[in-house]
Amino acid sequence: MVEHRIPENLNEALKLLYHGDYQVMAGGTDLMVQRRSLSDTPLDFPKNMVYCAHLQELRGIRKEAHRVEIGAMTPLEDLLCHPDVPSLVRRAIGEMASPAIRHVATLGGNIANASPAGDTLPVLYLLDAWAELRSLAGSRMILIRDLITGPRALKIHPEEMLTKIGIPEMHFSHETFVKVGGRQADAISKVSLAAAADIVEGKVSDLRIAFGAVAPTVVRDETLEGAWEGATLSELKVGVWRLLDMYVPLIRPIDDQRSGKHYRHQVALNLLRDFIESLSEPTSEPGR
Ligand SMILES: Cc1cc2nc3c(=O)[nH]c(=O)nc-3n(C[C@H](O)[C@H](O)[C@H](O)COP(=O)(O)OP(=O)(O)OC[C@H]3O[C@@H](n4cnc5c(N)ncnc54)[C@H](O)[C@@H]3O)c2cc1C
Repeated sequence: MVEHRIPENLNEALKLLYHGDYQVMAGGTDLMVQRRSLSDTPLDFPKNMVYCAHLQELRGIRKEAHRVEIGAMTPLEDLLCHPDVPSLVRRAIGEMASPAIRHVATLGGNIANASPAGDTLPVLYLLDAWAELRSLAGSRMILIRDLITGPRALKIHPEEMLTKIGIPEMHFSHETFVKVGGRQADAISKVSLAAAADIVEGKVSDLRIAFGAVAPTVVRDETLEGAWEGATLSELKVGVWRLLDMYVPLIRPIDDQRSGKHYRHQVALNLLRDFIESLSEPTSEPGR
C-alpha cells in the first residue's frame, strides 16, 4: 500500500524524497486525471505521495533585480493578475483551463508534467526561464529547455524537487501568445505559438519563436532566430517564406484525439506568418 504524507515544511518534504520512493503532488490537476480509476475505485498511485501545495516556502512571487522569481507551488491564478509576472506568461495562463482549475494548478506542476501541450512552456522557453531544483544535498539551477527532455521526461533526480522558477526581465516591442484549441476556454492546445521581437530603428534586434504541441518538446531554435538579427523589418517580411521553410523540418506534430498532424503543421506555420506580418516599426518603446 502506498503512503500519503503531508510534510510541515520543505525540509521534511526533501527528507521524504531522499529516504523513500515518493512522488510530489502539487495541485494534482494533472496527477488526479492521470491516476483516475474508471471503475470508481480509489486513485491508483504507484508510488508514495508527498503533498506539497500548502508549503508557504514554495509559494509566492518575488521581484529581484532583472528577474522575477516564482515559487513552484504558486497557483496559476495568483500569477494571472500579478504586475511583476511577465505579460507573456500572464497571457499564456489566461488561455489555460478554467478559474477553478487555475486556483489549484501550479506553475511548477505545468513544468514538471512536461506535456508537449503545456501552455506555459513555449513562453518559459522563449524567456530563457530557469528552474531551481532542491534536494537535501543542496540546490542547482537549470534552464527549463534543458530540464525537459521529452513527454513527461525531465532531468530531475528522484530526491530532487522543483522549488522555484526564475524569469529574466526582457523588453520586446512586439510579443504574442496564440493557442489553438477545440474551444475558446478549458481546452488543451492543438498548437500554440509564443513569439517576440524587438524592432529598433527599423531593424530586428531580437527575434524569439517557440511552438507548443508540435513536437515531443517545445520547438525553439536560437540559431534560426539569430540568423535574422540585424535584418531590416522589410527584409524580414519579404523573407517570411524563407523563415517558414526553416521551421518546416522542426515542426513534427502527431495525430491524436485532439487534432491531425497535417492540420497542426499548417496552423503552426500560419501562426508564425501572421506574427511576422503583424510586425511594425514601434512608435514608442515602453519600458526602455
Ligand atoms: C480541466 C483541466 C483543464 C486543463 N487545461 C490546461 C490548459 O489549458 N493548459 C495546460 O497547459 N494544462 C492544462 N491542464 C493541466 C494542468 O492543470 C496543468 O498542467 C497544471 O499546471 C498542473 O499543475 P498541478 O499543480 O496540478 O500539477 P500536479 O498534477 O500536482 O503534478 C503534475 C506533475 O508534476 C510533478 N510535480 C508537480 N510539482 C512538482 C515539483 N515542485 N517538483 C517536482 N515534481 C513536481 C508531479 O509529480 C506530476 O508528475 C488542465 C487540467 C485539467 C484537469
